[in-house]
Amino acid sequence: MSHSTLQVLSDNVKLLKASASKHAIYGVLIAVMAIVVATFMVSFVEHGEVTLDGIVNAQKTNVALWLLNLSPFGFAFWGQYVSNVMAFQAGAMVVDQTNELRAQAQAIERRATYEVTHDRLTNLPNRVLLQDRLDQAVHIAHRDQLNMAVMVMDLDRFKEINDALGRDQGDRLLRQVAARLKAAVQETETIARSGGDEFVLLLPKISGEQDAIHTAVNISNALKAAFDLGQSKLDVQASIGIALFPEHGSSAEDLLQRAEVAMYSAKQEKSGYTIYEDKQEINSPRRVTLVGELRQALERDELLLQYQPKVDVKSNQVTAVEVLSRWRHPRHGVIPPEEFIPLAERTGLIKIVTAWVLKKALHQIGEWSRAGIELGVSVNISTQDLHDQELYDRVTGLLAANRLDASQLVLEMTETSIMIDKERATNMLQRLASSGIRISIDDFGTGYSSLAHLSVLPVKEIKIDKSFVIDMQDNPKHANIVHAIIDLGHNLNMKVVGEGVESEYAYRELQRLRCDSLQGEYLSKPLMADELAAWVLDTSRTRKVHSI
Ligand code: C2E
Ligand code: MG
Ligand code: MG
Repeated sequence: MSHSTLQVLSDNVKLLKASASKHAIYGVLIAVMAIVVATFMVSFVEHGEVTLDGIVNAQKTNVALWLLNLSPFGFAFWGQYVSNVMAFQAGAMVVDQTNELRAQAQAIERRATYEVTHDRLTNLPNRVLLQDRLDQAVHIAHRDQLNMAVMVMDLDRFKEINDALGRDQGDRLLRQVAARLKAAVQETETIARSGGDEFVLLLPKISGEQDAIHTAVNISNALKAAFDLGQSKLDVQASIGIALFPEHGSSAEDLLQRAEVAMYSAKQEKSGYTIYEDKQEINSPRRVTLVGELRQALERDELLLQYQPKVDVKSNQVTAVEVLSRWRHPRHGVIPPEEFIPLAERTGLIKIVTAWVLKKALHQIGEWSRAGIELGVSVNISTQDLHDQELYDRVTGLLAANRLDASQLVLEMTETSIMIDKERATNMLQRLASSGIRISIDDFGTGYSSLAHLSVLPVKEIKIDKSFVIDMQDNPKHANIVHAIIDLGHNLNMKVVGEGVESEYAYRELQRLRCDSLQGEYLSKPLMADELAAWVLDTSRTRKVHSI
């Protein structure tokens, strides 16, 4: 046989093996063996021996053998049929299981979405879902020129009730209130729990003010009957503030804030409900009005930055600064970040604040560099920044625009902010770190991060929380924590910064424990940019740092 014929044969065998099932091939082999044996036996019985002539004769004349000759086809057909049926059944089983798994995955996904968008205690939509529905309603109201209303409702004296009867009873009351509110509103309206004892009602389509008032009265009536808390029956009143679109605001944010202002006014006047008026702003709590003013503050350049030096322990030099923002408010004076950053985080404005801080701070570092003062800068960032896909492009763009090296920028964040959505935060951190930017964990020791997870993050620095450093001298437990954090950081190959260094004792102790850099009022409080430059250049100051 030629080589090509052999090749064709072997290809055919391969093809047969690939397309015929094992059952069919075994069946055919057994049938062929049966034919051979039967033919030999017939030849032996008829001629007394097995000869070629005898075999040929048997095959020509024996009808039983003819029938037997057909058997390989029967076996082949049967084998292939059986395996096809089995394959089909197996396929059907896989499809069944896949469908079941898919259904389970969908159920888990639905549950997860539900939990993210609903309040656990009352099962009402939470702040996240409310924000979504509000944005959507405002969009439609703009488009179709509809009137809508946003109402904020807060229970009167809830804190007292909670303190007097206990949290469990407080929760029980909130659940009952939620149930009555749900019953008092229409299908198309949203009632959400926005936190504590505060509820928000969204009426996406009203014909006018009267509709909103009508609903507010309905709600007040629904709360009139006493609440049954087992041992006690309670009368509960609520205050409702109403803001109307388009009269009182054209964005979800404005409407919510104004409804809250109106609610405080209703509380003060004990009027049950009121509609927003400008003059109510004066008496409303500062927190409420600040939310509305924060966006304008950014536009009006009311935020300002201060820089606090970080001193490198080995070289005794100022090598970097931490940038800290403040709000110079026209009426309230300087508002500290601890008051307005949480507001910015709550309203989603934090991304704009962070973008502004990064822009200003990196520009300042570039300016100093050109003036011969080489400094690194630490910028604080929040959870939402870590989930902002633009963060990476923003920082790398700003570094390039100011001709700075990525290693000059440290991004500080708390353990908690990373843990809120570990996977997303880790991805962002890895991208940032791969470009050379350094990641620092701020206020270390106050969060609840897992050390195992921390060690896989691209973290270059940890900052011991100032509460441990401030009273190191008087509190041996805190002194031990400081010691342990320094060792931990070094074992994980990270630099350790001590912040809140207020005394010479803390300064010397941290130096002794081989902390890498120090920051605190003992060295310098946060300074304005020009003061910082003067401080760094001031040789007597520098000598002070050296001489300590
Ligand atoms: P932080 O990042 O832990 O900043 C250190 C805080 O400690 C600063 O408070 C600083 O003024 C204060 N401090 C410095 N030295 C001492 C000291 O010796 N003793 C004491 N008791 N405190 C000292 P500040 O400026 O009020 O900032 C508070 C927090 O607000 C910061 O804590 C940071 O988490 C946040 N923050 C400040 N600026 C920003 C910002 O631009 N963006 C974000 N997301 N957060 C910011
Ligand atoms: Mg910080
Ligand atoms: Mg800190």
